[in-house]
Amino acid sequence: MLFSFHFAEHLYGSWGSLTAQCHLVFRKVAIHERCGAGPRSAAASQAARRLSNKLILCGGTGGFDCHPAFHGLYPWAAYPPLGAPLGAALQLRPIRAVWYPGLLCMLLEFMGGAVCATAGLLTYGVRGRTSTLFGPSVWRGPADRPTLALTFDDGPGPSTPEVLDLLSARGARATFFQCGKDVRHWPQIARAVSEAGHEIGNHGDTHSPFYLRSSARIYEELARAQQSIQDVTGQTPVLFRAPFGCRWFGLRGAQRRLGLRGVMWTAIGLDWKLPAGAIAARLGAAASNGAIFCLHDAHANIRETIEAVRRLIPELQSRGFQFETVSELLCPTN
Ligand SMILES: [Zn+2]
Repeated sequence: MLFSFHFAEHLYGSWGSLTAQCHLVFRKVAIHERCGAGPRSAAASQAARRLSNKLILCGGTGGFDCHPAFHGLYPWAAYPPLGAPLGAALQLRPIRAVWYPGLLCMLLEFMGGAVCATAGLLTYGVRGRTSTLFGPSVWRGPADRPTLALTFDDGPGPSTPEVLDLLSARGARATFFQCGKDVRHWPQIARAVSEAGHEIGNHGDTHSPFYLRSSARIYEELARAQQSIQDVTGQTPVLFRAPFGCRWFGLRGAQRRLGLRGVMWTAIGLDWKLPAGAIAARLGAAASNGAIFCLHDAHANIRETIEAVRRLIPELQSRGFQFETVSELLCPTN
């Protein structure tokens, strides 16, 4: 494993590139060396050494030739190298120093850094709640009114009517991001959501993640769900939430063709795994003007979701918040 500490080391490397850079090669200290155990059989020692020799790590240390003035700027690259204390912390023993031509080393590290940066950007683009890299998306509404939007994903399901009753009892409207296959399976429940005055958004057809899918497949997922929701409820969704919050290439075009705006969330209840009290506390703490909350109305932990909603709505209403659909939240003149 080549271990590169810092982008900044490239800056340092560029100063050292005319000569060379040094990396230390570490060896995992063998068990018998660490614990100071008594004599072993030759075979056991040899086996331990063979194992430990496989655990080799290259610690980037920066060059030794840099002018001391730069040590203050990039102390991690300065001599004595960072690699040595890190190696000690990991119980690694330096066994030799390897000198590379500076330019080659710099290029290798730069390429590694570029790969890491690209991976980081892609991860944010795919999963980041504020990302619009793969299509237009909102994660909160305007902050000028004390209004919140509850959203429920993955339905409709057999427990959805209970959620509807809770909302109705407190005069709250919400947004349900429904999956096409579930709309076809529970058409009366999907229709009841619409008839109760709630907004229905598109949550894909089969709830399979878009990650690594083709543009055609992503479009098909959205288009089939859109058609089923229209046919069953009479509503044409204008909002879309990606299954697992995971966006991918091709989504922007699919959203444009179907007139869908992406919606992520200001806070997510983690209601598939938390108890009711923790869900309510988590969302209660995140309540602020224009916040969008993500919950689920069809999943194994549904009793906790329902109890959390039962506690949360009156609590937030007593704090002065109103509950609207996401479209109302985003565009109050609607
Ligand atoms: Zn979902």
